[in-house]
Amino acid sequence: MVVAKHVMSDSGEKKSDFIREIITADLASGKHQSVITRFPPEPNGYLHIGHAKSICLNFGIAREFHSIGARCNLRFDDTNPSKEEQEYVESIQEDVKWLGFEWDELHFASDYFEFYYDCAVALINKGLAYVDEQTHEQMKESRGNINVAGTPSPWRDRPTEENLALFAGMRAGDFADGSMVLRAKIDMAAPNINLRDPVLYRIMRARHHNTGDAWCIYPMYDFAHPLEDALERVTHSLCTLEFENHRPLYDWVIEHCPVPSKPRQIEFARLNLTYTVMSKRKLLQLVRDRHVNGWDDPRLLTISGIRRRGYPAEAVRNFCTHIGITKFNGTTSMDLLEFEVRGHLNRESPRHMAVLEPLKLVLENVDADERIDAELQWHPERPEMGNRRISYGREIWIEAGDFMEDPPKKFYRLGPGRHVRLRGGDIIRCLSCDKNSEGEVVLLRCELLKGTAGADAPAGVECRAAIHWVDVATGRDAEVRLYDRLFLVEDPDGEEEGFASALNPDSLSVTKAKIEPALADVAAGYSCQFERTGYFIADGKDHQPGLAPVFNRTVGLKDSWAKKAGK
Ligand code: ATP
Ligand code: MG
Repeated sequence: MVVAKHVMSDSGEKKSDFIREIITADLASGKHQSVITRFPPEPNGYLHIGHAKSICLNFGIAREFHSIGARCNLRFDDTNPSKEEQEYVESIQEDVKWLGFEWDELHFASDYFEFYYDCAVALINKGLAYVDEQTHEQMKESRGNINVAGTPSPWRDRPTEENLALFAGMRAGDFADGSMVLRAKIDMAAPNINLRDPVLYRIMRARHHNTGDAWCIYPMYDFAHPLEDALERVTHSLCTLEFENHRPLYDWVIEHCPVPSKPRQIEFARLNLTYTVMSKRKLLQLVRDRHVNGWDDPRLLTISGIRRRGYPAEAVRNFCTHIGITKFNGTTSMDLLEFEVRGHLNRESPRHMAVLEPLKLVLENVDADERIDAELQWHPERPEMGNRRISYGREIWIEAGDFMEDPPKKFYRLGPGRHVRLRGGDIIRCLSCDKNSEGEVVLLRCELLKGTAGADAPAGVECRAAIHWVDVATGRDAEVRLYDRLFLVEDPDGEEEGFASALNPDSLSVTKAKIEPALADVAAGYSCQFERTGYFIADGKDHQPGLAPVFNRTVGLKDSWAKKAGK
């Protein structure tokens, strides 16, 4: 698999692309006075990061051409009644808004059922559509393949009157599901198989979330979609490359139906990312089979998952800008998305101290009731980054990994006899450690070099690192959820035994952490850096301020993906 390595620029400036060039040319030539785009999700699942690309494109264009009245609609492509649910309709609206966009009009393709029907009748009247009574298998058989032309249906030359009566009967419920379809009469020998008399309507007795039981015939996507675009006077209908071969049919429908405008379909490459699956169908499978905890599981690249994970909407938009819009399908490296997220969080996140793997440390020369000041100065000019005074007492928590009993020379943290600085505070020296019966270190005994806070190390003291810490007396407990990639391989879809066989069993690990007191009371959605550890967000669902703090790791401080992939 070829994974694109994009050249990054620091700013999120808009790069032009072939679609924006087409639009600019259409405006310059006077073909259009303004631009109307649409984002047309089918409400059969939650939106994912791939949809974000399409959202940023469609809504982004409307924003860029705002001064000439450009608009973008959110349209639910809900013409297929079998898989669609209200829950998805709501989540999709929430996700679009969270990404920072607002639609000009909200539409449901199912509101246009009467119009599609009228268009179908118009095609019949022009001799361009007929009711076919072949079975599904016969139709498939007679369509031919790339090398073999299709053969016409015995019903292809049915008289118009008969077609009209049968089609009315289909609508009225006179015929069984699957017993007949309405087909376009185009060309059974067309090199493009999509033009070999495609089905326009099928009989399907299924309750629709919007229209209930009003209809028992439903239009096919390729027929309905251009009509939806035309009704809404969409000028540029942007879709992914799979639809390139469908464009002649799109144009045929626009040409022959009584439509109020002539939209133009333009295709662009979909977003694929390493270490993930992207289609709603596969995401649904992960949710249903409980490989993840719901659609908003922070390990999923659904919009609701990444929101809960703590990816800022702006970082997602910048990511979409950087990957750009092209005509070539490829796979984008996951580290690129993380790069955007990390860069944004590095600039914006306040700093806090939390210890994920706590080891208790006692300062033997500090009295039990003594308090020692520390001064956190993350950014001299930006107090909102968390600059403040705090204090600690005789006992503190440090990261177990910041101590080694027998450290190598290059380990600059604690070991017997070694010095380290407590972030914002004094230098300490390790005296000894206590162990339990299993030989594990359970307590460090240290001494505080009083008066070294904010000052250089005294002569003869080697202190080359500062570690984060949490005061035992005031620190609080928190649940911290550490997420790793959901799949073990770059291309889970390429797995012979299916993508589920490549799931990472260690994609979630939960730890009991110690956090500084201020962190325990933050609201859900509070995003910050845990000093030296990574970026974290108070969970949107389970975090209870003051009572039961829960934090999700958004992303580590360094690019862990590239490193792991190299292994
Ligand atoms: P899925 O396979 O995930 O269900 P879809 O294309 O069937 O995706 P729709 O709800 O029909 O999903 O998509 C709405 C819009 O989002 C369409 O215009 C579609 O082209 C676009 N889109 C979907 N997936 C991607 C992707 N990975 N990259 C870019 N655009 C996408
Ligand atoms: Mg789909």
